Amino acid sequence: MTKFSVLILGNASAAPTLKRNHTSQLININEQYYLMDCGEGTQLKLREHKIKLQRINHIFISHLHGDHYLGLIGLIQTMHLLGRTTDLMIYCPSDIEEVINVHLKVSESQLKYPIIYKRVNHKKSEIVFENDKVEVISIPLKHKIPCSGYFFKEKQKPLRINPKAIKRYEVPKYQINKIKIGEDYTSSDGVFIKNSKLTMDPLPSFSYAFCSDTKYLEEIATVINGVDLLYHEATFAEEHADRAKKTLHSTAKQAAKIALISNAKKLIIGHFSNRYPDLNVLLNEAKSVFINTELAVQGNEFEVSNPQ
Ligand SMILES: [Zn+2]
Ligand SMILES: [Zn+2]
Repeated sequence: MTKFSVLILGNASAAPTLKRNHTSQLININEQYYLMDCGEGTQLKLREHKIKLQRINHIFISHLHGDHYLGLIGLIQTMHLLGRTTDLMIYCPSDIEEVINVHLKVSESQLKYPIIYKRVNHKKSEIVFENDKVEVISIPLKHKIPCSGYFFKEKQKPLRINPKAIKRYEVPKYQINKIKIGEDYTSSDGVFIKNSKLTMDPLPSFSYAFCSDTKYLEEIATVINGVDLLYHEATFAEEHADRAKKTLHSTAKQAAKIALISNAKKLIIGHFSNRYPDLNVLLNEAKSVFINTELAVQGNEFEVSNPQ
């Protein structure tokens, strides 16, 4: 059973409160961790959820407004204190290396591990990370400063072995990996068996899109069409639509519209303004457009799972 989940570590915009931390999420794809944004207090939230910090090798920063990255230098320092030696990758559309280097310089710190920076193109969608299981594509957003979302897509999974057929045709173990990638099988006495007789369809591949601070932007839909799980900022309710426009943010309804035109299966809204003590205002407005919406409640884990 593979895992594909998003843990909400923070959901506040602007100033954090006792109940709402700044934006951060931990994405778990098949027990590989990816940290999404790193607002103030993120390392404490990771500890609260018993996440081993050293298992985080990739940190994606959407933009350099403080509510999305001010926890990063603290996390970097703690990783150092814990004796980290492995590479840390940081992805960002702005020059975050300069920011980190100033911190390291003034504290005369020499990290025990290398940080590798990847500057993300915030104007054009591109693959920013890829391994054999997953690829991460940037989502250009429109905000006051360069800002990028990230689209995580699992690659096609291998075919599943049909154990009964393997037994019936007496397929030796060493052939199994070839069969999983679609090869046919010929037995030692020359009997040809088509791959389709030995395998079943692969498990579905899932996707997650993180759309950080942005004005309403329909172009997002073309990048993330058919996404399983979409996070979209929803800083404001409709009554503050003007404010959303001015500050290049979205309303809950606009987030829901993006979910609708993206053919998303589920929407999570977050990055809430502190002016809403009752988040149901935002939830109901979003649901009036896209019913399968949930709030990015801090501490909630959203799991995309295989149909039974
Ligand atoms: Zn923000
Ligand atoms: Zn911002």
